[in-house]
Amino acid sequence: MYIKWLCMLCGDVKISNTHRHHEMNFCRCNQSGCDAEEYLTRWCGSAKFINKYDYNFFDEIILNLINQKLPKFKEPNKAYEFIIKMEDKIIESLI
Ligand SMILES: [Zn+2]
Repeated sequence: MYIKWLCMLCGDVKISNTHRHHEMNFCRCNQSGCDAEEYLTRWCGSAKFINKYDYNFFDEIILNLINQKLPKFKEPNKAYEFIIKMEDKIIESLI
C-alpha cells in the first residue's frame, strides 16, 4: 500500500511505501514525515493524510519480470535495486 500525504508547512506532497519498513519519509522542509508500515503509520510534524492506494507494484514488477524472463541479473542485489527504482518511478506518478 502507498500513502499519499501533504506537509501543511511547505506544501510538499509525498508518497510513503508500506513495503519499506522503518523508513521515515520527510518532506522538502524536513519538518513533517511519515513512516508507513503494514499495520500502523507513524507521523511527525504537520503531515496530513490525503489518500491511500492498495497496490503492490513491487510484486507486480517481479511477476512481470518472471513471466518475461527478463532481465537476468548475476547478483540478486542488483535485481532488487533495479526493481526498487522501477517501483519508485511508478509511485511518483501517484503524486
Ligand atoms: Zn514540509
